[in-house]
Amino acid sequence: MDAASLSRRGFLRGRVNAAAAQRPPWARDEVDFTARCTRCNACIDHCPTHILVRADGGYPAVDFSRGECTFCGECLSRCEPRALFRTDDDAAPWPLRARIGDACLAAQGVECRICGEACPTGAIRFRPRLGGVALPALEIDACNGCGACFGPCPVRTIAIAPMDPRETNALTEVKQ
Ligand code: SF4
Ligand code: SF4
Ligand code: SF4
Repeated sequence: MDAASLSRRGFLRGRVNAAAAQRPPWARDEVDFTARCTRCNACIDHCPTHILVRADGGYPAVDFSRGECTFCGECLSRCEPRALFRTDDDAAPWPLRARIGDACLAAQGVECRICGEACPTGAIRFRPRLGGVALPALEIDACNGCGACFGPCPVRTIAIAPMDPRETNALTEVKQ
């Protein structure tokens, strides 16, 4: 199983483990990150949305069940050994994007727009359908993987996982 699949599986199970741990935004690649990170907890202690937790080995990881990343950069600025490091101001914080799963209530014919209401970038739109409830469609390019849609989903069918490059620019509609 590749890293993306492992990560996706870990989030779907709603837990953070060593194999699936999603590091804080702007983390270096895993080898460099664990070599530099002193496990000082500064990023965890200063994250205003409290989404950073101590994961396996004492290294920090994101737990989206606790909330969303606002990309405020507090963790980045507190990381003295630069395990979190931004090469330039435009560098993407991570390759994460949302993915709506098949258990979506709307896909089961139940009216629900909670994820769309939670999304701060308008990446989830609901398309009206004749004779059925509106289905969510995810605009990948508008999604920054903040995780705001993960927690509120009543059936936890949204995964926040590394983007599949083939999905770039796609408008992904949930299957019914
Ligand atoms: S960027 Fe801000 S909100 Fe996001 S993990 Fe870092 S401290 Fe928390
Ligand atoms: S602030 Fe940096 S060194 Fe400290 S725990 Fe976070 S990532 Fe590791
Ligand atoms: S991860 Fe954030 S930006 Fe992406 S669809 Fe969910 S709420 Fe919107």
